[in-house]
Amino acid sequence: MDAVWARDTVGAGALLTIDLDALVENYRGLAERAAPAACSAVVKADAYGLGVEQVVPALRDAGCRHFFTAQLREALEVQPHAGRGAAIYVLNGLQPGSEALCAEAGIVPVLNGTEQVEAWMTLAVRLGRSLPAVIQIDSGMSRLGLAPEEVEALASRPGALDGIDLILVMTHLACGDEATSPYNGQQLDAFLALAARLPPAPLSIANSGGVALGGDFRQDLVRPGVALYGVAPTAGRRNPMRPVVRLDARVIQTRAVKAGQAIGYGCSLVADRPMELATIAVGYADGWPRCLGHVGAAYKGAVRLPIAGRVSMDSIILDISDLPEDSLRLGDTVELIGPNQTLEQVAADAGTIPYEILTGLGRRYARRILPPSSSAEGNIR
Ligand SMILES: *Cc1c(COP(=O)(O)O)cnc(C)c1O
Repeated sequence: MDAVWARDTVGAGALLTIDLDALVENYRGLAERAAPAACSAVVKADAYGLGVEQVVPALRDAGCRHFFTAQLREALEVQPHAGRGAAIYVLNGLQPGSEALCAEAGIVPVLNGTEQVEAWMTLAVRLGRSLPAVIQIDSGMSRLGLAPEEVEALASRPGALDGIDLILVMTHLACGDEATSPYNGQQLDAFLALAARLPPAPLSIANSGGVALGGDFRQDLVRPGVALYGVAPTAGRRNPMRPVVRLDARVIQTRAVKAGQAIGYGCSLVADRPMELATIAVGYADGWPRCLGHVGAAYKGAVRLPIAGRVSMDSIILDISDLPEDSLRLGDTVELIGPNQTLEQVAADAGTIPYEILTGLGRRYARRILPPSSSAEGNIR
């Protein structure tokens, strides 16, 4: 690691390592758990911040044929990497003015309301061919999808889906990461009853948490996102996924301070004893939340190095007093995400969820991509 660091990350404040082998193994594990349902991949927000250019081809080669994005622009970015014949979906739905582009590109919209169904049908008539679509039903989250009344109205209108090739009917769980929530079963029942009112089509319910719930939550297609990237699908349970990201930050200065010296912005910490400090080149502009000031930590091996004072935009001061003298020097690295500090731990310290830490990971990091085989060495870009 240190040799790679020295050679290939000159000028960067931190190295983000993305392990595509772990990603692929996570995909295979989820696909096995979901079988006989098919397993898609949710790659919205640039594959949760890890990069669609790397993530999508790795999943494609592992056999993934369905990719979910949030926006049409994302879908167009994913398309060249997804392989011929893969289906690419837009979860946020069909936005006014985007219909022609969506159809022309062969992207599949998730129709989230009656007006979207009608816009898609109108375009199908104009083009003189049927257009593929997903219909999302809101089974109890009040975020996106047809309300129960809209489903009923659609079901009772003859020819209401003319010109639409309905390839999937889906819903989304509000509490999928809570293994014992009775709300999951309620949503399942509501969804199955409403879906039965529509023409027969494959069904999809499960995100990562839903895959872990198993049973009837699997249906025909599952849609895991965060678990692919190594995050525990069920909150508070042992994490069965292989970690995909590792983050190591560079030490850009070390110093000793005396009792009484102020540390960081606002002098919010004053040393109450002689302390050894190290400043690292990661800050809130790199997605390391400012609220981790005084709370979070980095690691050198198993030694916890608490954040001293506030998080700055481009740097963080660490209290390294617990390390043997001279064990951290200019240019050395400390672990921010890795075997000693999981994404889940960072998120808990920051009072948020791992999704937010993952999708916020900075654009300034050097990135090392470990390919989907244990033999080859990674490429840095
Ligand atoms: C983001 C999203 C997913 C994936 O959720 P994870 O919890 O990351 O597995 C699945 N379905 C929908 C509709 C989503 O918005």
